[in-house]
Amino acid sequence: MLFASDMHLDPSRPEITQLFIDYLNEHGPKADAVYLLGDLFEVWLGDKVSLGDYEDVIACFRALSQTTTLFVLRGNRDFLLGEAFAKASRVTLLNDPQVVDLYGTPTLITHGDLLCTDDVNYQRYRKIATNRAVQWLALNLIPDRKKREIARNMREASKRAQAQKQGDIMDVNHDEVRHWFNRYTVSQMIHGHTHRPGQHQYDTNMGTAQRWVLGDWYTQGSVIKVTAKAGPELQQLALS
Ligand code: MN
Repeated sequence: MLFASDMHLDPSRPEITQLFIDYLNEHGPKADAVYLLGDLFEVWLGDKVSLGDYEDVIACFRALSQTTTLFVLRGNRDFLLGEAFAKASRVTLLNDPQVVDLYGTPTLITHGDLLCTDDVNYQRYRKIATNRAVQWLALNLIPDRKKREIARNMREASKRAQAQKQGDIMDVNHDEVRHWFNRYTVSQMIHGHTHRPGQHQYDTNMGTAQRWVLGDWYTQGSVIKVTAKAGPELQQLALS
């Protein structure tokens, strides 16, 4: 099984889109399933506006769906991914978080932003942005051209806010991580969002638990390959 997140695909970085598509074309058909854990797209302004911006990626998903089941979680950049996207791409949208069975090991998968509880301002924003009624109003009342403008402004504001925040605030809160292991009674977790690829251990009620973090796709690719024999393995893909 393959995991990736935080591709942040954007028409302005065609080489990353190509790396992602090439990887999926080569390795996807051999995988038992592919899980994409959010922030696939740099920005998603609703299916009606954004489907047309990513036709090559959607076509790749659709082709892969003939051999492999694709699961998608929404991230904070693409929380507006909807049913039209799922239908066009032939992917299954999952709620965040989700427990999945990885060759006998129950594993919690999540985008990761919900674990970053130290960033109080972000969590406040998230609560509003993921509210169904707010989303409906935004999608239906804001003209399409205005949506692009708002997205641009929000990204600029987010960059400024990130530059001001201390590094640790944007990482996961370790008490929250332990709490999730215990609440979902799992000893394995995979997420993205923090752009800090790695593997971390925690003492939990279930014993030692592993938290695997996927990296972003800004200057390279990052995937976790899980096999029945070897378990999870973090891999970096070079941009040729
Ligand atoms: Mn994210």
